[in-house]
Amino acid sequence: MSGSAIEIVRSIRDLRARVAAWRAAGETVGLVPTMGALHEGHLSLVDHAFRNATRVCATVFVNPKQFGPSEDYAVYPRTEERDAGLLRSVGANLLFAPSVEDVYPTGHCTQVAVAGIGDVLEGEFRPGFFTGVATVVTKLLLQALPDVAVFGEKDYQQLLVIRRLVRDLDVPVRVEGAPTIREQDGLAMSSRNAYLTTEERRIAPALHRSISGVVAEVRRGASPEEAAARGVEEVLAAGFRSVDYLTVRDADSLAPMRDNDRPARVLAAAWLGKARLIDNVAV
Ligand code: AMP
Repeated sequence: MSGSAIEIVRSIRDLRARVAAWRAAGETVGLVPTMGALHEGHLSLVDHAFRNATRVCATVFVNPKQFGPSEDYAVYPRTEERDAGLLRSVGANLLFAPSVEDVYPTGHCTQVAVAGIGDVLEGEFRPGFFTGVATVVTKLLLQALPDVAVFGEKDYQQLLVIRRLVRDLDVPVRVEGAPTIREQDGLAMSSRNAYLTTEERRIAPALHRSISGVVAEVRRGASPEEAAARGVEEVLAAGFRSVDYLTVRDADSLAPMRDNDRPARVLAAAWLGKARLIDNVAV
């Protein structure tokens, strides 16, 4: 498949026409939504989609509605030509790259808000973030109507939010989660890693190291709260500026874990220079 052409479409009408033609030819369709500045993590989602569908459409859209007023919307890396080349190299069939005006035409005012699971952790530190994500993902799913949509476990809470909205709104799509792709030193790949200076990049793997340490302690029977508190200390000692949260949560509900009696996940968000890094590992 490598080397085959990738077509870029920008209008919802063209996207629907391509998907309809695939369906008429008996193909199944996988969707991989992204904000671009693609790396190996994103490309692994395309591979994952090809294991579940015969045609794959990636989307690149830097969604203004999921950025807070003081966040990095204006400076978020935009590298469409490079992204198209990378998608071509892994055999993706279509790149949907709509404009902000096409996604949010004048008068657009409907939002998808996922209460509960969308209100904690990232929802607490980035008000409006999950409503922005849920709104755009709902739109992309309804625009493309894929058989399967693939999201990374790197953004674990986002994956739970999307699973929830698909169930609640009866969207006829299967949601697939794909494992986090990491650099050799453990740092989760992220478009925002580009914000790190050389010195910060050296410090950055401490986040994954500390999360993994907490996972190991909890597995050995330590108190989730005490293990998480030690994790926070480690991240700060390594040189992170501040920790928004580093916490052991129920893997399904994200409720705090007091005992080790259910499947759990250690999730963290911390600031290193100008970059806010997030990561998580299953207990
Ligand atoms: P983004 O472009 O950062 O909005 O991410 C688009 C999709 O790629 C989301 O489903 C992310 O969870 C996923 N993703 C981002 N980084 C990684 C990674 N390192 N490994 C696997 N998936 C990732």
